[in-house]
Amino acid sequence: MNTALDSTSKPLKLPRSIPFPGARVPVRLVTDAKMIEVAGELVDGLWQSANQTIYLRKAMSPEDREEALYHEMHHAVTDMEWAARVRRGQGLLERVKEVEACSSTSPVLMPKET
Ligand SMILES: [Zn+2]
Repeated sequence: MNTALDSTSKPLKLPRSIPFPGARVPVRLVTDAKMIEVAGELVDGLWQSANQTIYLRKAMSPEDREEALYHEMHHAVTDMEWAARVRRGQGLLERVKEVEACSSTSPVLMPKET
């Protein structure tokens, strides 16, 4: 059986969008120039909460795209969780701690090798 954890399986075929509760999140494969335009710098992936869209660099290998997709999905989930907490008026301190934890461990946020 092929699963996401099967190391012999092929890289995931990227979905055009991902269903989240309340909305489908578009997944856009973009050029480096477009990524710099939307992110302000060249990064492998971006979750843009303003338009609820995930951007991935087209230039990455399929394996890297897959990994970046899961990373950005995590940001989307965290953002949506935060929005739900804000609606209930709670959770700011916990959210700040989570963001700090992500920035210190995220490979996507680390400087690119040249
Ligand atoms: Zn990140």
